[in-house]
Amino acid sequence: MGAHLLADLLEDALPQTQCTKCGYPDCRGYAEAMAEAGQKPNRCPPGGIEGIIRLSKILQLKTESTTLSIDPECGAERPRPVALIDPKACIGCTLCIQACPVDAIVGASKQMHTVLNDWCTGCDLCVAPCPVDCISMVNVTENHTGWEAWSSKEAELARKRYHAHSTRLKREERDQILRVANKARSKLEELDSDLAQSETDRAEIERKRQIIAAALARAKTQTI
Ligand code: SF4
Ligand code: SF4
Ligand code: SF4
Repeated sequence: MGAHLLADLLEDALPQTQCTKCGYPDCRGYAEAMAEAGQKPNRCPPGGIEGIIRLSKILQLKTESTTLSIDPECGAERPRPVALIDPKACIGCTLCIQACPVDAIVGASKQMHTVLNDWCTGCDLCVAPCPVDCISMVNVTENHTGWEAWSSKEAELARKRYHAHSTRLKREERDQILRVANKARSKLEELDSDLAQSETDRAEIERKRQIIAAALARAKTQTI
């Protein structure tokens, strides 16, 4: 089986919380590391022991009870929590929104923020950036942990929301580059119509022209 197909199968078996606890930027990154670089299947706390068994089967690795434990470097298997924001303490800074990989937090600048429980994967990523420490993680699955606390349906929803989030970020980045490029283009036109007479002015204008033209060329390659 090719490494790409293997990574697809492994990714399908991951919980899709996109929590980064495995040490990779997302579930896909971890799936690729297992498929292509021999990374071990015990680095995903949200999947827990059941997750190690599922991944090991796909990787055709034997699972012995002695090897069945989550790498402590990545955290521990636990009941699934959701984030809860204390409305009295929230200052509306939006840092939690920027950190959430599945866009599960709503709220505008300087307004109180709220977590949409159905979309929260319990990834913890919004907790650390909060400057007033008003986000707590609340257990919603009692003593159920790993895949006992998370369904394939929830994983699929989380994956879709993460893809929508990534597409939105790319679109916003592209729009920002285009805005800057448009400003640079106007500046270039301004310089072109400048009637500077002295040799020094002309040299300075040419220098600026070259800088702006190079920036525009870069913007073009980034938005293709
Ligand atoms: S759920 Fe978290 S730890 Fe598990 S693979 Fe995805 S990002 Fe990594
Ligand atoms: S609200 Fe917080 S814990 Fe929930 S998915 Fe978003 S970042 Fe993760
Ligand atoms: S990071 Fe904290 S203070 Fe800022 S909007 Fe989110 S919950 Fe409110």
